[in-house]
Amino acid sequence: MMSYDYDLVVIGAGSGGVRAARIAAGYGAKVAIVEEYRIGGTCVIRGCVPKKLYVYASRFADSFQIAGSFGWTVDAKFDWPTLVSNKDKEIARLEAAYVAGLEKPGVEIIRDRATLVGPNTIRLVAADRELTAGTILIATGARPFIPDIPGKEIGITSNEAFDLPSLPHSILIEGGGYIAVEFATIFAGLGVHTTIVYRGERVLRGFDEDMRLGLEAGLQSRGIHLMYETTITALRKDGDDVVARFANGVEAPYGAVMFATGRVPNVNGFGLAEVGVKLTDGGAIAVDDRSQSSIPSIYAVGDVTGRALLTPVAIREGHAFADTVFGNKPTIVDHSMIGTAVFSEPEIATIGFTETQAAARGDIDVYIARFRPMKNTLSQKSDRVIMKLITEANGGRVLGLHILGPEAGEMVQLAAVAIGMNATKADLDRAIAMHPTAAEELVTFKAPTYVYRAGVKH
Ligand code: FAD
Repeated sequence: MMSYDYDLVVIGAGSGGVRAARIAAGYGAKVAIVEEYRIGGTCVIRGCVPKKLYVYASRFADSFQIAGSFGWTVDAKFDWPTLVSNKDKEIARLEAAYVAGLEKPGVEIIRDRATLVGPNTIRLVAADRELTAGTILIATGARPFIPDIPGKEIGITSNEAFDLPSLPHSILIEGGGYIAVEFATIFAGLGVHTTIVYRGERVLRGFDEDMRLGLEAGLQSRGIHLMYETTITALRKDGDDVVARFANGVEAPYGAVMFATGRVPNVNGFGLAEVGVKLTDGGAIAVDDRSQSSIPSIYAVGDVTGRALLTPVAIREGHAFADTVFGNKPTIVDHSMIGTAVFSEPEIATIGFTETQAAARGDIDVYIARFRPMKNTLSQKSDRVIMKLITEANGGRVLGLHILGPEAGEMVQLAAVAIGMNATKADLDRAIAMHPTAAEELVTFKAPTYVYRAGVKH
């Protein structure tokens, strides 16, 4: 049998790669992980974690707005450099914890860029040397897609947005996905005049329609300007401003322009094609349900496989890979019921089918609650909470849950446990409400708001 330098070499120390490396090493494999930037990957360094910290920062604005109704007088000022530097400290702390978590089971960390040379061979670009491995795991993630327009280099992406030297007076964000709406509410909450420009007809395509409408209203009530069905066609500098030209020829100046126009798998420039690793039509690495690519010794997990671009999914895939290949515990990840949260303001969380999807599958009952969160009732703040529960007409199994409002993510995360166990409406009803909470609405729904029978809404 051929002997290799390592049992496993992982390319990319993000969510998926770190988990796979740690678990494989725990099973006794000799593991190295190669990372060209920082340990922790997108989520820790410039994704979920700093994003949520900035969301917290921006939400003080809403609290200050209603503070007066509770008798408080607040003289609030915001300092961007303080937020950025405190964020940097926290990210450095987390990165160190990731490094320690890898070193403890004996993973060798190699700080370099890796390229594939063969099914079992990797070249380290800076060190200019080769390593061999019985198995190679590609966990190179994804990167922002930037439209190919004149002046595109003047725009920023989420990568740069976290570390702007100062807050711009205004920002134009192109895109309608979760990153676009999250950053729009972050900047708007911090006092920046914010505009979203999106080629679609409404933000958050693919989400339940009531969530999209509710979010749209929430964004507008925070003063965020929405421009639909157009795109940026060019950017140019004008003094400190960036002038955006839109598809209709109109131009407008902004303090900054950010592209949140989707993310593309990191598949280029490190030898995938040369070694013969096949891609999907969407340009991600094609893998089977055990995350194995078209080359048997090469596996891939996380965003680079384009399955669901979320950290917990990358982690689950990385763990399942290590269990399957090094732990003698074949494990297949079920991608069918993945919950997701959008940390916009208002927040959205969702699991399962949208109303449209569920109605296309068969007869359903739809329960909707709309109410003002109790925290706002002493003030004029008009935000509404929307909760939508979709159940099968026959038997009452929960097919979808969609919540818009404070702590939506926390609520849906817990409900996801019950939904994953095939909870029915009767199971929810059996729980005694906790009062006063928002989530009690979920266990106190009486008659359906409306139903679908044979595809027709009644
Ligand atoms: P990554 O974490 O991207 O890691 C890939 C690593 O590979 C990187 O560190 C990169 O430097 C390295 N690399 C690439 N090529 C090479 C090479 N050739 N050699 C060496 N190293 C290489 N997900 C959520 O679940 N919740 C959220 O709230 C959330 N918010 C997000 C907010 C933003 C702004 C962004 C951008 C993403 C967010 N995500 C969120 C998505 C989440 O970050 C990703 O799904 C997750 O990081 C994917 O993990 P991964 O292991 O596939 O790749």
